[in-house]
Amino acid sequence: MTSGEQAKPLLLANVRPMAFRQDTVHKTTDILVGADGKISAIGPSLAAPADTIRVDGKGGWISPGWVDLHVHIWHGGTDISIRPSECGAERGVTTLVDAGSAGEANFHGFREYIIEPAKERIKAFLNLGSIGLVACNRVAELRDIRDIDLDRILECYAENSEHIVGIKVRASHVITGSWGVTPVKLGKKIAKILKIPMMVHVGEPPALYDEVLEILGPGDVVTHCFNGKAGSSIMEDEDLFNLAERCASEGVRLDIGHGGASFSFKVAEAAIARGLLPHSISTDLHGHSMNFPVWDLATTMSKLLSVGMPFDKVVEAVTHAPAEVIKLDMQDRLSVGQRADFTIFDLVDSDLEATDSNGDVSQLTQLFEPRYAVIGSEAITASRYIPRARRLVRHSHGYSWR
Ligand SMILES: [Zn+2]
Repeated sequence: MTSGEQAKPLLLANVRPMAFRQDTVHKTTDILVGADGKISAIGPSLAAPADTIRVDGKGGWISPGWVDLHVHIWHGGTDISIRPSECGAERGVTTLVDAGSAGEANFHGFREYIIEPAKERIKAFLNLGSIGLVACNRVAELRDIRDIDLDRILECYAENSEHIVGIKVRASHVITGSWGVTPVKLGKKIAKILKIPMMVHVGEPPALYDEVLEILGPGDVVTHCFNGKAGSSIMEDEDLFNLAERCASEGVRLDIGHGGASFSFKVAEAAIARGLLPHSISTDLHGHSMNFPVWDLATTMSKLLSVGMPFDKVVEAVTHAPAEVIKLDMQDRLSVGQRADFTIFDLVDSDLEATDSNGDVSQLTQLFEPRYAVIGSEAITASRYIPRARRLVRHSHGYSWR
C-alpha cells in the first residue's frame, strides 16, 4: 500500500494456524483483519465487507510472523548490508533483527534511514565497537580499547532503547586480533548495566568458543553456534560440546546465524542427533552471504529440517524463540483485537540441493515456501530468494539448477 491509499479490510481465507500456543491449532479457518490492521473475526467461512481484499491461503499454514534474529541491513551505512526489503516481508519475515551493523557512532543514521521507514519491524543489537561494520572486516570494529566508548554506548541506548535489544560482540581474531576475550567481558558488563542480553559471534579463535560460553548467562545469545570452523566447532571437542549443552540448559540461547562461513550441516546434524537443538534459526544475511550459500530464512529453516530438527521446532525457532530474546510479545497473537502479524507458508516436497558454509551439499526433501507476510491490513506476497548467479528452475517434480 502506498501512502495516501485507503486501507481496506483483509480476509485471510483457508489458513491453518500453527505455533500460536492456543486451542485453534491445525484446523483450517478464516481470519478477518479490519482496515485498522487488527483482527476483527476468526472462524470458518467468514462473511466480509464488500471492499475486503481476499487472500486465499489454500489450506497452507499460518504462524506468528517470522523473526530473523541475525541480519545485516544498515544499507548505505556499511559496505556489507542489504536492504530490509531483500530479507523482510517479501521473504515471509515480519521482524528483522540487525546484529551489530551499527555502533554508537552511527546508530542515529540506522534509525532514521532504515528502521523508521521500513515496512518490517526492525530491532537491533548495538555493536560494542563504536563504528559498527562500516567497512566490515577491512576496518575491524574491535582492535583495541580505543574502539569502545562506554559513556557513548550508554547514551546511545538511552536515546534508542525502543530499538536496541542487546549488545553485539564479534569475538574472533579476524576482528579482535590477539585481544582475546576482553571485549566479550566488556560487552557483558555493559549488557548487565543496561539489563539487556548480549549476542556474541564465535568464530576463529581467539576468543575460544569455550571462553565465550563461560562469560554468557541466561538470556544471552551465541550466534554461529553450529559453525564448522577449526578450533570453534562443538563437534571436534567433547568438552566444548558438554559445555554448550550445559549452558543451553541454563538459558544461554544457541542461534544458527548461518552466514557465509558459519553453518555446517555435519555439525548441526550431529548436535541435533544428540538432542542439542538451536534455540533460534537465523540467517546472518548480508551482501556476501545472500547469493551463496544462505539465500533466505525459509531455505535456512529447510536446512535445519533436513538435518533432523522437527517441523514444529523449526517454526518455534523463528517465532517464539527469537521473540523471547527481543522481548516481543507473542501472547494471544491469534485473538480478536490483536494487530495482525503473520506468515502464511507451505511445506512442499523438493529435491533441491543446498550448500552450507563449508561447501557441503545436502538434498532438501522438504522446503518451507513463504506465500504471504501479513503486517496489519496488508498482505505482502512472499517467496524464497532465487540466487542470481545460477538459475533455479521449478518443474513438476521439484527444482533443479540450470
Ligand atoms: Zn553477522
